[in-house]
Amino acid sequence: MQTTNDTPKENKIVYSAIQPTNIVTIGNYLGAIKNWVALQYDYDCFYSVADLHSLTVYMEPATLRKNILDLYAMLLACGIDTNKVSFFKQSSVVEHSQLAWVLNCYTYFGEARRMTQFKEKSTNAFTGFIQQVGDVFNIKERNTSTVVGRDNVNVGLFAYPILQAADILLYNAGHVPIGADQKQHLELSRNLAERFNSRYSPTFVVPEVLIPKVAAKINSLDEPTKKMSKSNTNPNSMILLIDEDDVIVRKIKRAVTDSDGNIENSDKKPGISNLLKIYSAFMDCKVDNAVAEMQGKTYSQFKSILADVVVSKIRPIREKFVELRADKQYLQDCMDSGAEKAKLVASKTMNKVYRKIGIQ
Ligand code: ATP
Ligand code: MG
Repeated sequence: MQTTNDTPKENKIVYSAIQPTNIVTIGNYLGAIKNWVALQYDYDCFYSVADLHSLTVYMEPATLRKNILDLYAMLLACGIDTNKVSFFKQSSVVEHSQLAWVLNCYTYFGEARRMTQFKEKSTNAFTGFIQQVGDVFNIKERNTSTVVGRDNVNVGLFAYPILQAADILLYNAGHVPIGADQKQHLELSRNLAERFNSRYSPTFVVPEVLIPKVAAKINSLDEPTKKMSKSNTNPNSMILLIDEDDVIVRKIKRAVTDSDGNIENSDKKPGISNLLKIYSAFMDCKVDNAVAEMQGKTYSQFKSILADVVVSKIRPIREKFVELRADKQYLQDCMDSGAEKAKLVASKTMNKVYRKIGIQ
């Protein structure tokens, strides 16, 4: 794991979250969740299902309700222990929204506009909107400049990293286990904490990022230069933790590679390099060691070894998920008691903030 500076060594508080936009992928698992599980033994961890963040993408209410329980059950299946951590639904702790509003007022428009996730997601939202319009009117040749409106690009998407800063700062978290795609957002959280502290007096802990070395960014199986994302509309781009064994094998078999047949880790070979990364992250080894191990194998032999590894790691998680997901009341009770624990800390921070800024 990679860390930055500044946070006192003795800070043992962790915060992280995942949006309920779909069941999690192996990218989420290797990039974030594995660290969540490892940290729970030595740190005071606050983990949430970021339902407020997921509102930035429209979902049917019934789908969102289902996704929240799915995600909660899946994280328990991955090994999150509610006796050790506070694991809750973000919207159940109203302080997240309250602090987000305060921080909105301390964030410059220009710095929010520089966030690359906003640029990417707003482009995707716009493209999706154009596709929908095209489909409705059966337009084959689409000229994007003639389509009116950016209906799916909402203010929430723009303010997304500020809500994320509120999440982290509420719990005085010194450590935030995330994938590399969230590093820029964490920088914003750090800047906001420092800005607030210097305008008033020390209030927030300046958080450090925890990014895994190998699995910082697992890429899409069909477009291996892009990040694997659970909200991608192409199911073949990702492996989900609920995928059945045969589905995993099929997705790995059809993963895009190149045609030269050499197993190497290189920017020029994003497909095979991504598969090597997935293999190494699941096997907890260095990519160089995986490359050495696979020398002399064909792509197809390597893919079949990789598929066996991924299947053997995911199968027990999937089976546990099915068992946990059947008990809705248990999940609800865990979520509620997680929120109660989180609220104890969040409300103290919020009172302190309101006092410092002068509205209490
Ligand atoms: P969405 O497409 O809805 O944004 P996502 O797959 O990006 O979904 P998030 O809920 O945004 O998932 O992120 C949850 C956590 O997983 C974050 O810490 C993020 O950095 C990490 N993460 C997401 N995708 C990857 C990936 N491909 N590789 C490594 N880490 C990832
Ligand atoms: Mg994301």
